Amino acid sequence: MKEKIKGFFEKALLEIFVDKYNCIICDEELREPSRYGLCKNCLHEMTFIKDSICKKCGRLQLNEADYCLTCQNNLRFFDFARSCVVYDDKAKEIVRGLKFGHRKYFAKYVSNFLIDRYAECFSEIDIDFIVPVPLTKKRRDERGYNQAEEIAKKFAKHYGIELKPNVVEKIRQNDEQAKLSGREREENVVGIYKVVDKEAAKDKRILIVDDVMTTGSTASELAKELIKANAKNVYLLTFASTRYKITGESLEDDKVE
Ligand SMILES: [Zn+2]
Ligand SMILES: [Zn+2]
Repeated sequence: MKEKIKGFFEKALLEIFVDKYNCIICDEELREPSRYGLCKNCLHEMTFIKDSICKKCGRLQLNEADYCLTCQNNLRFFDFARSCVVYDDKAKEIVRGLKFGHRKYFAKYVSNFLIDRYAECFSEIDIDFIVPVPLTKKRRDERGYNQAEEIAKKFAKHYGIELKPNVVEKIRQNDEQAKLSGREREENVVGIYKVVDKEAAKDKRILIVDDVMTTGSTASELAKELIKANAKNVYLLTFASTRYKITGESLEDDKVE
């Protein structure tokens, strides 16, 4: 009988704690909690972005040029952007789980990626507050949360930087960027954001946080509105970004909100 009770409690405890000790991508049981929520194999398959990046948008480049062609040919309203990992298969699984799989708890692991990348890239800059890229009210209600805000929470708290999710609103749903050409993408995002608290933005250094950056046109549009509201500087930090391809931007990799 004693053994039976012990077995029951062990099982109950396992059921309570099992999520904390499984890889968030492949579900493999982990011996100990992992900073990024991943097993060794999944972690190994992710590409952490360090060198060979475009100095403006922070995407991994295949050549040694300072700036990618997209940044050379387009106005960028953010000072610079940086991201943690390449948006490849493993990173996609995390983002999809967070956005479409109701895995809101992935956000605290993604926050740890942001915490570490921020220490590498932003230590010289005094950020006044963080703006998570907003969703339209309709999209936010459908999902129940804004993933950009969720991944920014623990990160903001870690550095003691204020998180201001209500400074900017997304007032119009744009078409899916993936279906559009480069020029169409630039036009597709014009006017989708509105700074509703202009006083808050004035003379401030603002960090935009998002899950994924592809061409950067969406982030640049948001940065443009903040600059118009007299923000001093605007930076961008995302969990993942697409690898820049010399032959042109990849359409299939584009993000879906
Ligand atoms: Zn795994
Ligand atoms: Zn670039």
